[in-house]
Amino acid sequence: METIDFIPLVKAYPALSRTYGEVSCVAGVEMTREGPRWIRLYPVPFRALEDDKQFRKYQPVRLRAATHSGDLRPETRRPDLDSIELRGDPISSRNAWALRRRFVEPLMLPSMCEIARRQRRERTSLGVFRPRRVIALEIEKASVDEGKRQIARAWVAQTSLLDGLGSDERANQLRELEQAPWTFKYRYECDEAGCRTHTQSIIDWEIAQFYRRVRHFDDWRDRMKARWLGELCGADRDTAFFVGNMHQHPRSFLVLGVWWPPRRPEQLALADLGDV
Ligand SMILES: [Zn+2]
Repeated sequence: METIDFIPLVKAYPALSRTYGEVSCVAGVEMTREGPRWIRLYPVPFRALEDDKQFRKYQPVRLRAATHSGDLRPETRRPDLDSIELRGDPISSRNAWALRRRFVEPLMLPSMCEIARRQRRERTSLGVFRPRRVIALEIEKASVDEGKRQIARAWVAQTSLLDGLGSDERANQLRELEQAPWTFKYRYECDEAGCRTHTQSIIDWEIAQFYRRVRHFDDWRDRMKARWLGELCGADRDTAFFVGNMHQHPRSFLVLGVWWPPRRPEQLALADLGDV
Protein backbone atom coordinates (compact mmCIF):
# COMPACT_ATOMS: atom_id res chain seq x y z
CA MET A 1 0.00 0.00 0.00
CA GLU A 2 1.23 3.46 -0.80
CA THR A 3 -0.30 6.88 -0.19
CA ILE A 4 -0.93 8.83 -3.37
CA ASP A 5 -2.03 12.37 -4.17
CA PHE A 6 -4.47 11.87 -6.96
CA ILE A 7 -6.39 14.14 -9.31
CA PRO A 8 -9.33 12.41 -11.02
CA LEU A 9 -9.67 13.37 -14.69
CA VAL A 10 -12.37 10.95 -15.83
CA LYS A 11 -15.14 8.92 -14.27
CA ALA A 12 -16.66 6.16 -16.37
CA TYR A 13 -20.30 5.15 -16.21
CA PRO A 14 -20.52 2.19 -13.82
CA ALA A 15 -20.23 -1.30 -15.20
CA LEU A 16 -21.95 -4.34 -13.70
CA SER A 17 -19.52 -7.03 -12.69
CA ARG A 18 -20.27 -10.46 -11.27
CA THR A 19 -17.27 -10.14 -8.97
CA TYR A 20 -17.70 -6.59 -7.74
CA GLY A 21 -21.31 -5.60 -8.42
CA GLU A 22 -21.64 -2.03 -9.62
CA VAL A 23 -18.23 -0.46 -10.16
CA SER A 24 -16.70 2.47 -11.93
CA CYS A 25 -13.32 2.98 -13.42
CA VAL A 26 -11.76 6.26 -12.37
CA ALA A 27 -8.61 7.49 -14.05
CA GLY A 28 -6.46 10.46 -13.32
CA VAL A 29 -2.99 11.49 -12.36
CA GLU A 30 -0.75 10.97 -9.41
CA MET A 31 1.41 14.00 -8.77
CA THR A 32 5.00 12.87 -8.45
CA ARG A 33 8.21 14.87 -8.33
CA GLU A 34 8.83 13.98 -11.99
CA GLY A 35 5.39 15.28 -12.98
CA PRO A 36 1.93 13.80 -13.42
CA ARG A 37 1.62 10.06 -13.93
CA TRP A 38 -1.48 8.14 -15.04
CA ILE A 39 -3.32 6.05 -12.42
CA ARG A 40 -6.47 4.01 -12.81
CA LEU A 41 -8.44 3.22 -9.65
CA TYR A 42 -10.38 -0.02 -9.83
CA PRO A 43 -12.78 -1.05 -8.51
CA VAL A 44 -14.57 2.05 -7.23
CA PRO A 45 -18.22 1.45 -6.24
CA PHE A 46 -18.74 5.15 -6.61
CA ARG A 47 -22.43 5.45 -5.71
CA ALA A 48 -21.87 3.44 -2.51
CA LEU A 49 -19.18 5.80 -1.21
CA GLU A 50 -20.12 8.02 1.70
CA ASP A 51 -20.80 11.64 0.80
CA ASP A 52 -17.49 12.85 2.21
CA LYS A 53 -15.63 10.47 -0.09
CA GLN A 54 -17.51 11.14 -3.34
CA PHE A 55 -14.86 13.15 -5.13
CA ARG A 56 -15.55 15.20 -8.23
CA LYS A 57 -13.46 15.46 -11.37
CA TYR A 58 -10.35 17.61 -10.85
CA GLN A 59 -10.80 17.50 -7.07
CA PRO A 60 -7.52 16.62 -5.31
CA VAL A 61 -7.78 13.40 -3.30
CA ARG A 62 -5.33 11.61 -1.03
CA LEU A 63 -5.75 7.88 -0.64
CA ARG A 64 -3.98 4.61 -0.08
CA ALA A 65 -3.75 2.18 -2.96
CA ALA A 66 -2.02 -1.06 -3.86
CA THR A 67 -0.97 -2.67 -7.11
CA HIS A 68 -3.73 -4.83 -8.52
CA SER A 69 -2.87 -8.50 -8.87
CA GLY A 70 -5.88 -9.32 -11.05
CA ASP A 71 -5.30 -6.56 -13.59
CA LEU A 72 -2.16 -6.54 -15.73
CA ARG A 73 -2.52 -2.97 -16.92
CA PRO A 74 0.47 -1.11 -15.44
CA GLU A 75 -1.50 1.98 -14.34
CA THR A 76 -4.16 0.13 -12.30
CA ARG A 77 -4.27 0.42 -8.50
CA ARG A 78 -6.73 -1.07 -6.05
CA PRO A 79 -7.91 1.77 -3.78
CA ASP A 80 -8.47 1.51 -0.04
CA LEU A 81 -11.86 3.22 -0.09
CA ASP A 82 -11.88 4.06 3.63
CA SER A 83 -8.68 6.06 3.20
CA ILE A 84 -10.12 8.51 0.65
CA GLU A 85 -9.64 12.07 1.84
CA LEU A 86 -10.88 15.07 -0.20
CA ARG A 87 -8.36 17.88 -0.20
CA GLY A 88 -10.07 21.10 -1.21
CA ASP A 89 -12.32 22.11 -4.07
CA PRO A 90 -11.98 20.90 -7.65
CA ILE A 91 -9.23 22.70 -9.55
CA SER A 92 -10.75 25.74 -11.22
CA SER A 93 -11.44 25.93 -14.95
CA ARG A 94 -10.79 29.69 -14.92
CA ASN A 95 -8.47 31.29 -17.43
CA ALA A 96 -9.02 28.66 -20.17
CA TRP A 97 -8.36 25.82 -17.71
CA ALA A 98 -4.83 27.11 -17.07
CA LEU A 99 -4.43 25.30 -13.74
CA ARG A 100 -5.80 22.02 -15.11
CA ARG A 101 -3.44 22.19 -18.09
CA ARG A 102 -0.50 21.70 -15.74
CA PHE A 103 -1.68 18.15 -15.07
CA VAL A 104 -2.89 17.27 -18.54
CA GLU A 105 -0.47 18.84 -21.03
CA PRO A 106 2.53 16.72 -19.93
CA LEU A 107 0.44 13.59 -20.66
CA MET A 108 -0.62 14.66 -24.15
CA LEU A 109 0.43 12.15 -26.85
CA PRO A 110 0.54 12.83 -30.60
CA SER A 111 -2.27 10.49 -31.67
CA MET A 112 -4.53 7.51 -30.95
CA CYS A 113 -2.46 5.45 -33.41
CA GLU A 114 0.58 6.17 -31.21
CA ILE A 115 -1.29 5.13 -28.05
CA ALA A 116 -2.23 1.84 -29.74
CA ARG A 117 1.47 1.22 -30.56
CA ARG A 118 2.46 1.95 -26.97
CA GLN A 119 -0.19 -0.50 -25.80
CA ARG A 120 1.42 -3.24 -27.88
CA ARG A 121 4.91 -2.27 -26.78
CA GLU A 122 4.49 -1.38 -23.09
CA ARG A 123 0.87 -2.34 -22.28
CA THR A 124 0.03 1.36 -21.94
CA SER A 125 -3.66 1.44 -21.12
CA LEU A 126 -4.48 5.14 -20.65
CA GLY A 127 -3.79 8.16 -22.79
CA VAL A 128 -4.89 11.57 -23.98
CA PHE A 129 -4.46 13.13 -27.43
CA ARG A 130 -6.02 15.77 -29.68
CA PRO A 131 -8.04 14.26 -32.53
CA ARG A 132 -7.41 15.94 -35.87
CA ARG A 133 -11.05 15.84 -37.00
CA VAL A 134 -14.11 14.50 -35.19
CA ILE A 135 -16.38 13.16 -37.90
CA ALA A 136 -19.51 11.99 -36.08
CA LEU A 137 -21.31 11.12 -32.87
CA GLU A 138 -22.83 7.74 -33.67
CA ILE A 139 -25.85 6.54 -31.71
CA GLU A 140 -26.46 2.80 -31.84
CA LYS A 141 -29.07 0.60 -30.23
CA ALA A 142 -27.75 -1.34 -27.23
CA SER A 143 -29.30 -4.46 -25.76
CA VAL A 144 -30.39 -4.33 -22.14
CA ASP A 145 -29.08 -7.43 -20.43
CA GLU A 146 -31.35 -9.22 -17.93
CA GLY A 147 -28.37 -10.88 -16.20
CA LYS A 148 -26.89 -7.47 -15.56
CA ARG A 149 -30.18 -6.17 -14.21
CA GLN A 150 -30.04 -8.92 -11.61
CA ILE A 151 -26.51 -7.92 -10.63
CA ALA A 152 -27.68 -4.29 -10.40
CA ARG A 153 -30.62 -5.19 -8.14
CA ALA A 154 -28.58 -7.47 -5.88
CA TRP A 155 -25.90 -4.80 -5.49
CA VAL A 156 -28.42 -2.12 -4.45
CA ALA A 157 -29.99 -4.48 -1.90
CA GLN A 158 -26.63 -5.48 -0.43
CA THR A 159 -25.28 -1.93 -0.34
CA SER A 160 -28.42 -0.67 1.40
CA LEU A 161 -28.03 -3.35 4.09
CA LEU A 162 -24.37 -2.51 4.66
CA ASP A 163 -25.26 1.14 5.02
CA GLY A 164 -27.59 0.38 7.91
CA LEU A 165 -30.12 2.81 6.49
CA GLY A 166 -33.78 1.98 6.42
CA SER A 167 -34.26 0.19 3.15
CA ASP A 168 -36.92 2.63 1.92
CA GLU A 169 -34.72 5.58 2.73
CA ARG A 170 -31.75 4.14 0.91
CA ALA A 171 -33.82 2.90 -2.00
CA ASN A 172 -34.83 6.48 -2.63
CA GLN A 173 -31.19 7.48 -2.86
CA LEU A 174 -29.76 4.46 -4.55
CA ARG A 175 -31.77 3.26 -7.50
CA GLU A 176 -30.90 0.33 -9.64
CA LEU A 177 -28.34 1.37 -12.24
CA GLU A 178 -29.99 2.24 -15.52
CA GLN A 179 -28.58 0.59 -18.59
CA ALA A 180 -29.04 3.08 -21.40
CA PRO A 181 -30.62 1.49 -24.47
CA TRP A 182 -28.10 3.32 -26.67
CA THR A 183 -24.37 3.28 -27.19
CA PHE A 184 -22.68 6.56 -28.06
CA LYS A 185 -19.51 6.53 -30.15
CA TYR A 186 -17.10 9.05 -31.57
CA ARG A 187 -15.80 8.50 -35.08
CA TYR A 188 -12.70 10.56 -35.76
CA GLU A 189 -9.40 10.85 -37.52
CA CYS A 190 -6.37 11.10 -35.27
CA ASP A 191 -3.32 13.17 -36.07
CA GLU A 192 -1.22 10.41 -37.60
CA ALA A 193 -0.60 10.60 -41.34
CA GLY A 194 -2.67 7.91 -43.02
CA CYS A 195 -4.92 7.25 -40.01
CA ARG A 196 -7.87 5.17 -41.17
CA THR A 197 -10.18 6.67 -38.52
CA HIS A 198 -11.20 5.29 -35.14
CA THR A 199 -14.67 4.54 -33.80
CA GLN A 200 -14.80 4.26 -30.02
CA SER A 201 -17.61 4.02 -27.48
CA ILE A 202 -17.92 6.90 -25.04
CA ILE A 203 -18.31 5.65 -21.47
CA ASP A 204 -18.03 9.00 -19.68
CA TRP A 205 -20.54 9.15 -16.83
CA GLU A 206 -21.52 12.60 -18.04
CA ILE A 207 -22.83 11.43 -21.40
CA ALA A 208 -25.21 9.04 -19.62
CA GLN A 209 -26.40 11.90 -17.40
CA PHE A 210 -26.81 14.17 -20.37
CA TYR A 211 -28.84 11.52 -22.21
CA ARG A 212 -31.17 11.20 -19.21
CA ARG A 213 -31.77 14.95 -19.27
CA VAL A 214 -32.71 15.09 -22.96
CA ARG A 215 -34.26 11.71 -23.71
CA HIS A 216 -37.84 12.95 -23.26
CA PHE A 217 -37.52 15.37 -26.16
CA ASP A 218 -38.46 14.32 -29.68
CA ASP A 219 -35.19 15.76 -30.96
CA TRP A 220 -32.97 14.14 -28.30
CA ARG A 221 -30.51 12.90 -30.93
CA ASP A 222 -30.01 16.44 -32.24
CA ARG A 223 -29.51 17.67 -28.67
CA MET A 224 -26.92 14.95 -27.99
CA LYS A 225 -25.05 15.94 -31.15
CA ALA A 226 -25.30 19.67 -30.44
CA ARG A 227 -23.64 19.11 -27.07
CA TRP A 228 -21.14 16.28 -27.64
CA LEU A 229 -20.12 17.23 -31.15
CA GLY A 230 -21.04 20.90 -31.61
CA GLU A 231 -19.93 22.16 -28.20
CA LEU A 232 -17.31 19.75 -26.85
CA CYS A 233 -15.64 19.34 -30.25
CA GLY A 234 -16.38 22.86 -31.56
CA ALA A 235 -13.84 24.88 -33.54
CA ASP A 236 -13.33 27.21 -30.56
CA ARG A 237 -12.33 24.31 -28.28
CA ASP A 238 -8.97 22.70 -27.69
CA THR A 239 -10.54 19.23 -27.72
CA ALA A 240 -8.68 16.12 -26.59
CA PHE A 241 -9.98 12.64 -25.77
CA PHE A 242 -9.04 10.68 -22.68
CA VAL A 243 -8.97 7.01 -23.65
CA GLY A 244 -8.49 3.77 -21.80
CA ASN A 245 -8.53 0.14 -22.85
CA MET A 246 -10.60 -2.77 -21.62
CA HIS A 247 -9.13 -5.22 -19.16
CA GLN A 248 -10.26 -8.28 -21.16
CA HIS A 249 -9.65 -6.67 -24.57
CA PRO A 250 -6.44 -4.67 -24.22
CA ARG A 251 -6.41 -3.65 -27.91
CA SER A 252 -9.84 -2.00 -27.63
CA PHE A 253 -9.85 1.56 -26.40
CA LEU A 254 -12.86 3.55 -25.23
CA VAL A 255 -13.34 7.28 -24.80
CA LEU A 256 -13.43 7.86 -21.02
CA GLY A 257 -13.88 11.60 -21.14
CA VAL A 258 -13.36 14.78 -23.11
CA TRP A 259 -10.92 17.63 -22.47
CA TRP A 260 -12.42 20.77 -24.00
CA PRO A 261 -11.05 24.07 -22.69
CA PRO A 262 -11.43 27.12 -24.91
CA ARG A 263 -8.62 27.37 -27.41
CA ARG A 264 -5.88 29.71 -26.35
CA PRO A 265 -5.39 32.85 -28.47
CA GLU A 266 -2.36 31.45 -30.27
CA GLN A 267 -4.32 28.30 -31.17
CA LEU A 268 -7.19 30.40 -32.53
CA ALA A 269 -4.74 32.37 -34.66
CA LEU A 270 -3.45 29.09 -36.11
CA ALA A 271 -7.00 27.92 -36.76
CA ASP A 272 -7.63 31.09 -38.77
CA LEU A 273 -4.76 30.10 -41.01
CA GLY A 274 -6.41 26.73 -41.51
CA ASP A 275 -3.36 25.06 -40.05
CA VAL A 276 -4.76 23.07 -37.13
ZN1 LIG B 1 -5.28 7.09 -35.87
